[in-house]
Amino acid sequence: MSLIPLETFEEEARGFLDANARKKQAERKFVWGEGSDKVAMFEERSRSDERNDLHQACEWRAKKFDAGYGWITGPVAYGGGGLPGAYEKAWNTLEAQYQVPNQAAFTIGLGMVAPTILAHGTEPAKQAYLHNMYRADIVACQLFSEPGAGSDLASLQTKALRDGDEWVITGQKVWTTGAHYSDIGEIIARTDPDLPKHKGLTGFVVDMKAPGVEVRPLRQMTGGASFNEVFFNDVRVPDHDRLGDVNNGWAVALTTLMNERAAIGAGGGGGGVNLYARVIEMVRHFGLGDDPIVRDRLADLIIHGRVSGYNNQRAMDKIKAGQLPGPEMSIAKLAGTLNLRRLGDFVSHVLGPKLVADTGEWGTYAWAMLVLGTPGGRIAGGSDEVMRNIVGERVLGLPKEPGIDSKSPFRDLKVGTQPT
Ligand SMILES: Cc1cc2nc3c(=O)[nH]c(=O)nc-3n(C[C@H](O)[C@H](O)[C@H](O)COP(=O)(O)OP(=O)(O)OC[C@H]3O[C@@H](n4cnc5c(N)ncnc54)[C@H](O)[C@@H]3O)c2cc1C
Repeated sequence: MSLIPLETFEEEARGFLDANARKKQAERKFVWGEGSDKVAMFEERSRSDERNDLHQACEWRAKKFDAGYGWITGPVAYGGGGLPGAYEKAWNTLEAQYQVPNQAAFTIGLGMVAPTILAHGTEPAKQAYLHNMYRADIVACQLFSEPGAGSDLASLQTKALRDGDEWVITGQKVWTTGAHYSDIGEIIARTDPDLPKHKGLTGFVVDMKAPGVEVRPLRQMTGGASFNEVFFNDVRVPDHDRLGDVNNGWAVALTTLMNERAAIGAGGGGGGVNLYARVIEMVRHFGLGDDPIVRDRLADLIIHGRVSGYNNQRAMDKIKAGQLPGPEMSIAKLAGTLNLRRLGDFVSHVLGPKLVADTGEWGTYAWAMLVLGTPGGRIAGGSDEVMRNIVGERVLGLPKEPGIDSKSPFRDLKVGTQPT
C-alpha cells in the first residue's frame, strides 16, 4: 500500500486543525507585570478543575484520534496510523501552532505504559488497551515505587500469586502520579521471592477500579495532591493482562523506565512559560542590571540553560530518528534539573524575603511554587545521584558503583583498618 504524500498529510492535518481548534496568537514579548505570573513546576489544581481539564484533554484526544492523528506511527492492527515518524513530527509541529487542551495527563500512559504494553503485552491486552489509551477512553498510571523501593526498584515487595488463570496482588505502592483519575496501571510485582531480586518480578496491567484497589492522596509541599499511595488488597488480575514472561518483569520495567526518561525530557518545568525571559525582566525590574554578582550569576544561568536545551534536543532527535533512548537521556535529565536548581537559587538571591512572604506583588511570591516544586523534578524518573551513576558508568566508562547487593571492599573490615 502506498503512503499518503507528506505534503497531502500536512494539508489535511491543517484543515482538521483549522476546523477544530483556534490558532495561537503570535507570541507577545513578555512584559513585567502583565498577565499571569504563574511559574509552577507542577500544576496545583482543585479536584474539580483537574476533572474538567482532564475531560477537555480526553475530548481533544478522542477527536484527533478519530481523524487519524492520535497515534500516527502506531501499528494499524491496534488502531495506529502505520505512518513513519516524519508524519508524527509534522503533526506535532502543526498542532503546536493551535490552542489545544493540555495533554500532560497522558504523559505517563502514552509516554511510558503504552509502549510497554506494545512491547510486552499479550495479544488480548494489546487489543484491549492500546486503541482505548490513544483515544483517551482510558488513562493509565505507573505503579512501580514502594515505601522501601524507589531507586532500588528491584527490592519491591508487592506480591502476585498465581491462582488458576488469575493472579492475586497484595501490597502497597507509593508516589503514584494520577492514580486517582486512572483507569488502569502498569504494576511490577514479586512473583518468586526465592529468586535473586531482579529475577523474581513480573509486570501486569491492573484495573484501578477493581475490588481491593484503594487510592489515598498524598499532599505535597506546594499544596496540591498529584500523587497517591495505592494499596492492593487481594486484587485479581487475569493472566492475559500479564506483561512479558513470568519472572521477566525487570525487562518490562526497564522498557518503561527508558521511555520515562524520554517522556520527562520532552516536558520541562515552568508550565510552558519562558522562565529565562522572566528572570531577565525581574533583574531589570529590581534595578539589578548593573550589579556585577547578579550579572555574573544570570549569565551563568542562561549559558547552562542553553546547554541543557541543546542536550535535550540531541536526546530527543535520537529518539525521533527511531533509536532507543540511551544514556544521553540521563545527561539531559540531569542537566535540566540542575539548571532548575540554579534558577531557584538565583531567584531566591534576587527576591530574598519576597519569595517566602506573599506581599501581593506581581512576579515575586509566585516563584515559590517553582522553587518548592524543583526537588520533585530532581527525584522523579531517577534521582540526580542515580543519573550521575548512569553517566559515570555508561558514558564515562567508570567502574560500576558498588550497589547495596554488591560485595563491597569495606564489608569485612574491622574498625581501624583500611581497605587495600
Ligand atoms: C514528581 C514525582 C513523580 C513520581 N511519580 C511516580 C509514579 O507515577 N509512579 C511511581 O511508581 N513512582 C513515582 N515517583 C517515585 C520515584 O520514582 C521515586 O521517588 C524515585 O525512584 C526515588 O525513590 P525514593 O523516593 O524511594 O528515594 P530513594 O531511592 O530512597 O533515594 C533516597 C536518596 O538516596 C539517593 N540514592 C539512592 N540510591 C543511590 C545510589 N545508588 N547512589 C547514590 N545515591 C543514591 C537518592 O538520590 C536520594 O537522594 C515519583 C516521584 C516524584 C518526585
